[in-house]
Order: sequence, then C-alpha cells, then structure tokens
Amino acid sequence: MIPYFDLKKYNQSFEPALTDAVQDVVSSGHYLLDSAVDCFEQRYAEYIGTDYAVGCANGLDAITLILRGYMELGQIKPGDSVLVPANTFFATLLAVTRLGLAPVPVDADPVTGQIDCSLLEKACTDKCRALLTVHLYGRCSYNEQMAEFVQKHHNMLLIEDNAQAHGCMYKGHRTGSLGHAAAHSFYPAKNLGALGDGGAITTNNTDLANVVRSLANYGSSAKYVYDYAGMNSRLDEIQAAVLNVKLPFLDKETCTRRSIAKRYHAEITNPLISLFAQASEQENVYHIFPIFCTERDRLQEYLAQHGIQTLIHYPVPPHRQSCYGRQSWAQVPMPVTERIHATELSLPLNSTLTDSDISTIVSTVNSFE
Ligand SMILES: *Cc1c(COP(=O)(O)O)cnc(C)c1O
Repeated sequence: MIPYFDLKKYNQSFEPALTDAVQDVVSSGHYLLDSAVDCFEQRYAEYIGTDYAVGCANGLDAITLILRGYMELGQIKPGDSVLVPANTFFATLLAVTRLGLAPVPVDADPVTGQIDCSLLEKACTDKCRALLTVHLYGRCSYNEQMAEFVQKHHNMLLIEDNAQAHGCMYKGHRTGSLGHAAAHSFYPAKNLGALGDGGAITTNNTDLANVVRSLANYGSSAKYVYDYAGMNSRLDEIQAAVLNVKLPFLDKETCTRRSIAKRYHAEITNPLISLFAQASEQENVYHIFPIFCTERDRLQEYLAQHGIQTLIHYPVPPHRQSCYGRQSWAQVPMPVTERIHATELSLPLNSTLTDSDISTIVSTVNSFE
C-alpha cells in the first residue's frame, strides 16, 4: 500500500535530532513561553521575511487572533464582514464566524482554484473590512488584481491563511509576508509540522504583534494584569523545539515536492483526468496535489484497489456544512467551488515516496478508464 502520507516514516528522517530536542525541553523544566519558543519565533520571522512571528496553539487560533487583534485595535468592528474564498478548509470560515463576523464567500477561479479576484469588487459591501485569502494546496493566491483591490479600498486589511503554503514565494517574497498579517498552522501533516498542534502569526505591524501576543496569553500584558479578555492559545516549548529541528529542512522538502509534482505534470496523460495549470515553481510548495475527474469516487476506489491511498480536499465546501445551514451567506451559489469539491482527488506527494512509488501512481492513474 502506498499511504497518502506516512508521517511516522517522515518524522523518522529527523531522528535522533527530534528525540534529543524533546529530551532537552523535558530536562529544562520550562514548558511554556521560554527559549525554544523565542528561538522559533525569531527564526520563523526571518524565514518568512517579517518583523514579527508570534507563536500560538494552532492555525485556527492564528486566524482568530489576527481578527480579534484588529477588533481590539478598532480596525474591525463586531458585525463587520470578511471576504473569504469559498474553496478552502473549514477553519478559515470558522475563525470568522466564531468572532461573530460575517463571512462573504467568494467563488474560486476555475483555472487556479484560488479566490477569483475578478469577483471581489462585486462581492464587497461597505461592511467588508478584510480580505482573508488562502494559499490553498500550497499555491500563491496573491496577484496583481488582489493588490489593486486592496489598494483601492484603503481600509481593507489583507490577511493571509498560510497554513498550506510554508515557503511559497510571490515575486521574491514569501507568502505570509504579502499582506498585513498572516496565519500559519503547524498541524503535523502540514509542510512544516509539529508533533501535535501549533500555529503562528506573522506581521510587520508592531501594534498587532503586541496585541495578538497578549490575546494568546489570556489578554495579559504582565502577570495577572489583563488588558483584554483574551484566550489561552500558546505554542508550547516541546512543539517549538520540534519546529526548530524541522525548519532548516523545509526548503529541501519543498524541492523534493516540486520534483515529484513535475513528474505528475509531465507523466499523467489520462484524458479523463485534468490538473491545474502548473504554477510557476516558486509559487507552489505542493502541500496538496489535486487532480480532477468527473468520476472521482470511482477513481478513488480504483486507486485504492491498486494499493494507492488518496484523500479528498474537501468533500463539502465550508459554507455548505450543516452548521451554517440557516445563514443567508451560505445560500449563495458557488458553482466553481462546488465543481471542485465534487471532482477533486489528492494524490500522495511528499519526500517519503520513492521514484518507483511515483511511477506506480502515474501508471495506475493513467490506466483508469
Ligand atoms: C490546517 C489549516 C488550518 C487550521 O490549522 P489547525 O492548526 O489545524 O487549526 C487553517 N486553514 C487552512 C487552509 C488549513 O489547511
């Protein structure tokens, strides 16, 4: 069986450094808000190219903390709206709705699968304070049209959900440094993953960095002094130590992912299957490699029978989930997003796969009829 992602095997490639790093934290007696987190925040900010990185508990909280931070700074008010891509993972939307903000889902561009920037102007109301863009599948969603839109609406905040795109670049700048603030997840299976949950916020804005750091620690500025009614969302020392071991190898992992993707693009020739156009290399870190087939479920079954595990990202779009059933914004038709969710299948793509695994995947995909 070729698993979708053999995390155990992947993490074994970092041994014994991982075990040593965890052991160091265990021996140190310091488990929260200490040197491993400081070190990671500094290195990660440097890697992304921002003045600040602030650790937090997970990617969902990272998005939430950014939005809460701007609410505390008065730049977003309760009841305001946030433009979000309809084609994304559930957490992007949940971060908006859990704060009582109203999401305005925008359909996907059929060519890239990212938010369709030509629809932004029409979707935007005078309540929209932020555009929460998602670099989905590890592809850059930022482009000239998005830049123009944000520039034209001077109070519009550009927030990036970079949970799937660590290391992705746009014109020499990393995603996570392109907007006003960005959210990152270190969920174990992300391109940069911890051994549990973890997240971070990156920004060049000193006020925002300070407020999210405080909000993530109950809203406190000094011990037992609470400026905000915050939350408990901290990156812990063990996860930070793990990330310190793995961060230096992220670019190598990206490189391997790109060479596998290159083979998929060159060798998958089955007319029943379509792929996204190949983005320029720097703009894609291939967190997910989606292929599209109108008979997606039969294709998934066929690959499973031939020993290849695949996943669907995602079977039901966030705005169509039953929890949002009664919301008016959930009723708007999103034809491109719905087509993506009905036809998408993700092939295994990561550095634990051998050349022969890739050959097997390609030939099996091509033999589907
Ligand atoms: C994984 C993910 C998140 C949430 O990250 P967690 O750490 O699991 O909370 C948010 N947005 C996107 C696009 C993701 O893929």
